Amino acid sequence: MTDALQAVLHVPTLMLLVILGYLLLGLLLQTALPGLQSRPEFRRWLLSNWVILGGFVMLAARLLIAPGWSIFFGNALLFLGIAFQYQAMSILLYGHRGPAWLMQVQPLVWLMLGLMLHAQTPLPQRTMILSVMLCLFVLAFFRLIVRDGWRFERSLRTMVITTGFTALGLAVRAWHAWTSPELYDSQYHSSLGQGMTYLCVFLLLISSGFGFTLAVLERMSKEMKTLASTDGLTGCWNRTTTDSLLTHELQNCYRRKTFLVLALLDLDHFKQINDEHGHLVGDAVLRRFASIIRDRLRESDTFGRVGGEEFALVLPDIDAAGARTLLEALRSDVATTAFETGTETGMRQVTFSIGLAVTQLDRQQAAVELYGQADQALYAAKRNGRNRLELFGA
Ligand code: GH3
Ligand code: MG
Ligand code: MG
Repeated sequence: MTDALQAVLHVPTLMLLVILGYLLLGLLLQTALPGLQSRPEFRRWLLSNWVILGGFVMLAARLLIAPGWSIFFGNALLFLGIAFQYQAMSILLYGHRGPAWLMQVQPLVWLMLGLMLHAQTPLPQRTMILSVMLCLFVLAFFRLIVRDGWRFERSLRTMVITTGFTALGLAVRAWHAWTSPELYDSQYHSSLGQGMTYLCVFLLLISSGFGFTLAVLERMSKEMKTLASTDGLTGCWNRTTTDSLLTHELQNCYRRKTFLVLALLDLDHFKQINDEHGHLVGDAVLRRFASIIRDRLRESDTFGRVGGEEFALVLPDIDAAGARTLLEALRSDVATTAFETGTETGMRQVTFSIGLAVTQLDRQQAAVELYGQADQALYAAKRNGRNRLELFGA
């Protein structure tokens, strides 16, 4: 390696940067918001950070403690730290810690390290073997974020690149230690593979530290948005979101000169279901009802829960006849479903009434006007015997 490259990839300096970087990142994460700290993926990531820091400190401590201990614990902690990072990412992506082999393989790593130290394997060969093993671990993590990570959260995209480079750096180190062993006879020798690896680890530390934390924050913000816009029981849009989607669709349909239909759906004699079977059964009926309706809708339709047992359907680009056909089909889907009551009396039928209102093509209507019309039609349906559909103005 040329002197210039040696100066740029000066291993002791890079090692110091890596250690200080992990220390700073750990302190930052440790003092993060309680909302972040309460998340299991974040806690696991924090743990991995401290374990990896411990690994690098042990590797650097070769001057102070016996080299054998430094090598053994330094590398063992790095392998464990990467496994914890994998688990943290797996919790973020899938909600579980991932495969059991991550932990099962750890004693094997210790055994391998112990055997190499016992056999006094020369440093270049040891460097090569450890680089290959670490590279495989990093590649497993790389595969995880390439496969699913960057589609889940945008913040993970840079991490894909730096993790890839770290695996490449380790591969270069293994190859270089094999072909130029004389450059690997000291841990602090500023060889190409050694320098590149520490440089990549430093970049990985920055990108993954920020990337993972941002990904968790992105996830939290998505969860909060969902909580704020949907109904927890049925998964339908809540009243506020339904209203704004209706207003939005009204504008779109008026611009396109197409009809929009608003349907209000109200379960018949729902109070009786609660009274006879209890509120839990009532809740289950509401959930089942919502899922039956959702199954038949188009992507562009809006389905919201606008009251206790009252739902709204916003159907763009459809006329009264089309909406009537769809809703009659829904009515028959629900009428022919046996709903669980959780009692010995078994199943029961559930029906609902529908009020429809259709927009006019020559005039842009306000959401509240259409609501009023659909509501009047719904009252007519109830008055006329329930389990039926009425169209406003028909
Ligand atoms: P109608 O056919 O005239 O619509 O009669 P109804 O009994 O369906 O209407 P009413 O307005 O008298 O009663 C609605 C009931 O819905 C009363 C309320 O306790 C119940 N309800 C509202 N929200 C929920 C809920 O989230 N879960 C359960 N289990 N019941 C609910
Ligand atoms: Mg009702
Ligand atoms: Mg009602």
